[in-house]
Amino acid sequence: MSADIKVRYAQSLERSESFLKTKKNTARSTSITSSRELCLLRNQAECPICAINFRGKNHNTEHIHPRALGGLNNDENKIQMCTACNNARNLTMQSVLGTPPYYKNYLKIKQDVDEFILWSEVTVDDGLLAGTAFPRVQAIFSEARFANSVPPIPMRAYGRFSTWDKDDPPNLKFNKFPVTSTNIKSKPSLSKPGIMTRFFDWIFDYQPPKTEASKNSRHNGTTENNSIRIADNDLLKQTDLNPNYSVNENSAPNNKINQSLRGDGPRIITHLNSANKGLRYPKDPRHFALSWEWFIENAMNFTTFEECIEGLIGADIIPKSRAHKFLKTMLRAYSSDVIFESLSEQDLQKDKNTILSEILALLKSNLANEKYMDYISEREIFMLEIENYFNNVIKEFGKNHQHEKFQLLHWIKLNWEDEESYPSLRDEILAHEKANNRERTLKDILKEDFDIPKSWTIAKKSLYWSELKLSSEEE
Ligand SMILES: [Zn+2]
Repeated sequence: MSADIKVRYAQSLERSESFLKTKKNTARSTSITSSRELCLLRNQAECPICAINFRGKNHNTEHIHPRALGGLNNDENKIQMCTACNNARNLTMQSVLGTPPYYKNYLKIKQDVDEFILWSEVTVDDGLLAGTAFPRVQAIFSEARFANSVPPIPMRAYGRFSTWDKDDPPNLKFNKFPVTSTNIKSKPSLSKPGIMTRFFDWIFDYQPPKTEASKNSRHNGTTENNSIRIADNDLLKQTDLNPNYSVNENSAPNNKINQSLRGDGPRIITHLNSANKGLRYPKDPRHFALSWEWFIENAMNFTTFEECIEGLIGADIIPKSRAHKFLKTMLRAYSSDVIFESLSEQDLQKDKNTILSEILALLKSNLANEKYMDYISEREIFMLEIENYFNNVIKEFGKNHQHEKFQLLHWIKLNWEDEESYPSLRDEILAHEKANNRERTLKDILKEDFDIPKSWTIAKKSLYWSELKLSSEEE
């Protein structure tokens, strides 16, 4: 790695070392001020990496030295970037470093951390081409963001926030580089799966099959780079709480590739929500919406993804088996780097309808291309199903049925003793049902709201609730 660049950014390297050795908390994120944002739009600023024009909300504040690696939330460390570049940089980081938290593994990955930070710093100060000093990182990013085609060089980009103020003109030195026609004309190749395809691959637990990935037959004969899928697979391991998962085993890139190819071939998705083959979202779109509202309200109270899962299960909105997939989707939709730890208040303020319609639009365009998501058999039916499902989710937003469901777990924790408590629980549930102007039978309520089979006897239910109470006390 280039010695000059190392000297130039020595402070960043030191900061990440002290951060990762002492497991400090990541800096909270704050975004661009509206006066700066106005300045960018007024001056037709471009993304400093890909030269896309900033419009509306297609841009984000990027922490050049990532906060997960000890980067600070100050103007020196911030730059405005298009959302696509921002996402691709985060994916690149995960491809190079594996999954967070990075301090656990720090000594092993120190060199990778340094390499990534230097690449990140130098590409915002000297332009993307300067990143070629770090070929490995550069290759992963170029594939993720540009499908290896050459991006145009920006003409009107702004640097770090610390280098300009709200009335300044574009100020990056590489703005002045002549832009050659070949740079502008090159188009991203369409034969590679895009980030959203990989998003759905990930949601569906899809892993590229061994034979096809090595033969490259799936995507039009191009060399398939596994870097992004690897990042996703790592995530999968982390979020699925796989007991065998450890960060250490993933530090060498080759191991990662081998691991990603170990899947048992594609799963065939037949129905949106079947337990074995579907998406495993909550069956009732209302519960998806309620869980979503719960997530926005409560996510910041948890420090890890695992704790958040526990919290959601404890909130008793959806069964345990549906909580993982739901939270994975939320995390993917709200956090640009898919790291729970760096989720911010600001992220959670994103508009729900926008997020949903974006996901749907991209899913639709993916399904229209038969090269993508070939593990879905009945594509038209599937798309209808998923559209219908999410349209119903949207309808349920903001209906404030927060207290519609009886707070069973809460009641059990507080009041359950043994089978003798059963009559008072029954009375409470039925009184609650009446207060909500509904008339279901106890068995129906227990089945519909709490997934308790109608065949269960009072003794069996009692035993189940006693165990629930016991396990909630052990926590
Ligand atoms: Zn960009």
